[in-house]
Amino acid sequence: MRILVTGGAGFLGSHLCERLLNEGHDVICLDNFFTGSKNNIIHLMDSHRFELVRHDITEPILLEVDRIYNLACPASPVHYQYNPVKTTKTSVMGTINMLGMAKRVKARILQASTSEVYGDPQVHPQTEAYWGNVNPIGIRSCYDEGKRVAETLMMDYHRQNNVDIRIIRIFNTYGPRMAENDGRVVSNFILQALRNEEITVYGDGSQTRSFCYADDLVDGMIRMMECDGFIGPVNLGNPVENTILEFAEKIITITGSSSCIIHKPLPQDDPKQRQPDISLAREKLGWSPAISLETGLAKTAAYFAAQLAKG
Ligand code: NAD
Ligand code: UDP
Repeated sequence: MRILVTGGAGFLGSHLCERLLNEGHDVICLDNFFTGSKNNIIHLMDSHRFELVRHDITEPILLEVDRIYNLACPASPVHYQYNPVKTTKTSVMGTINMLGMAKRVKARILQASTSEVYGDPQVHPQTEAYWGNVNPIGIRSCYDEGKRVAETLMMDYHRQNNVDIRIIRIFNTYGPRMAENDGRVVSNFILQALRNEEITVYGDGSQTRSFCYADDLVDGMIRMMECDGFIGPVNLGNPVENTILEFAEKIITITGSSSCIIHKPLPQDDPKQRQPDISLAREKLGWSPAISLETGLAKTAAYFAAQLAKG
């Protein structure tokens, strides 16, 4: 198949492009390089089945493809809050443009939605049936509400125009090729630990997250795209839940670091708890994560150590 990956030069997009190429597909990677990097995909450039398009999805484009994975959108709070109006435009206008293309060329389109549609959840763990608890006017809203509208657009193009859609709700995912400067907890803590710097826990560290390794997530994403008769939304993530404090301690142990933990103010609207209920993914896709947190963190730490050694 000919497959378009928007946001293909980003962290998850680059792993997806690599996997799809290995499966024998033709891959078009589209990116505006806001948070993505050519370094993430440079190793794919030699393949004659790989093409790179510099483009911003807030502008229309027409490409003849069979599948569209719509991943373009900054994902870390630091990056999506840098230009919040643009973040909303990317989710809203960008998704309209991608859905318009899907409709025109009759491609199947998968939207990378997020656990943030549940906001600061009052239901725990989160199932797909939960409608969420999102602040519409806070500093995370550009991302959360943008992604919620993107889901609405997906459903309406499906109901109104018969577009063949899939929606996944991704929970915190980590791994090699996360941007060093993106401020997410995994990259921050690993880099701080490797440099023996203070580990910055925001708040008292009692808030929880559940972390999924990139390879597992990409596997679930492809299964969902190729699953017939089920459009989602479906949660994809690792249900193993940790407090952020426990997570900091784990990273210190795994890296053998001499770092100590310090506390910094908790950002506004930071969700207190997050854990996916993945019963639906297990039932419909036969999917559950295979890589343990310890194994995934060791691989990620090895990647960042190599990056630091390069200077
Ligand atoms: P990332 O920031 O590494 O990747 C996003 C990519 O999209 C980057 O390459 C960026 O340059 C590109 N991009 C941003 N705006 C664009 C635009 N207007 N036009 C074209 N390209 C644009 O983030 P990621 O972690 O790889 O996330 C990928 C997708 O998965 C995002 O949609 C994100 O919301 C979703 N997601 C990720 C996680 C996670 O934990 N990693 C969790 C939930 C959802
Ligand atoms: N966090 C932290 N220290 C950091 C970066 C993040 O304690 O240096 C916390 C953050 O407040 C949140 C959790 O880690 O509670 C996950 O943050 P991240 O930005 O990775 O993702 P999200 O909040 O979107 O789940």
